[in-house]
Amino acid sequence: MAPMNWFELSEKSISGEPLTREEALAVLESPDDHLLCVLHAAFRVRLKYFGRGVHLHVLCNAKSGMCRENCSFCSQAIGSYSGVDRYEIQSVEELVAGARAAHEMKAVKYCIVTATSAPSTKEVDTICEAVQIIKKEMPIKICTSLGFLNEETAKRLVGAGVDRFNHNLETAREYYPSICQTHTYDDRMNTILTAKSAGMEVCCGGIMGMGESLENRVDLAMSLREVNAESIPVNFLDPRPGTPLENRERMSPSDCLRALCMFRLTNPLTEIRVAGGREVCLRHMQALALYPANSMFTEGYLTTGGQGYDGDIALIRDAGFELAGFEA
Ligand code: SF4
Repeated sequence: MAPMNWFELSEKSISGEPLTREEALAVLESPDDHLLCVLHAAFRVRLKYFGRGVHLHVLCNAKSGMCRENCSFCSQAIGSYSGVDRYEIQSVEELVAGARAAHEMKAVKYCIVTATSAPSTKEVDTICEAVQIIKKEMPIKICTSLGFLNEETAKRLVGAGVDRFNHNLETAREYYPSICQTHTYDDRMNTILTAKSAGMEVCCGGIMGMGESLENRVDLAMSLREVNAESIPVNFLDPRPGTPLENRERMSPSDCLRALCMFRLTNPLTEIRVAGGREVCLRHMQALALYPANSMFTEGYLTTGGQGYDGDIALIRDAGFELAGFEA
């Protein structure tokens, strides 16, 4: 393949013409000497569609540590000995209080997550009641991530005011059996389609650094383009003690940045979120993630902490970006 012209690649992405698999792979295989050129190509696309705005999202781990699935990266999976907190679903009052705190932080979205295969009727009751109160009280968007979804639950969530449903594909179809055996890639795809057909936006991404090949990362990006997700969270494995992936090495900052650029260039119109593992994998290079990504979590993740809200705001401002998308 001829040397890549990164400027032309960004023009192609901006025009809406899909990148080929070879072009996407070239982004991931690009040498460190080209890193700033690759970041600039991704930044041109980001600037065109999202300006310098950064959407903040806040996670709420509403039910923790009790999932029956066996995703090998997850400290909340059955068989994990990670010692994470285990608790049943939070109360309506706790969920609403979390949304208030997120709104005060100028978050665009409050993401209610339960570590479950699928939510029980009682859990859906609690979440719907909380969402109805939140929606009356403050102009924050709600995302829920509750495991597998059936049509009836999807309709109830939409009726309560849930805007978006998160369900990650996590990795490429081909690699999925290597990271989970209790359900399939198609099970995940079915939930995504159920959420979409009920009228919710879809947040769907994956985790880099689980032992997948660069081709697998490209396959995931291409699948997400087909799914037409509104939002793609790009996580970097922060190996959790007590999980089957505990001994994996973290990705290098440069590889994390190349992955973010590849997702931006293959999915130009989609919100790309630099998600879990940001602080520990990107380290001093974190600010560069905002050149391809237009969204990030603040105040930590489901079972791991972050660098704190003040640190995140300083990061955004120091890099010349600004909070966007929130309603006062
Ligand atoms: S389904 Fe979700 S909560 Fe359950 S083990 Fe997999 S990633 Fe963890």
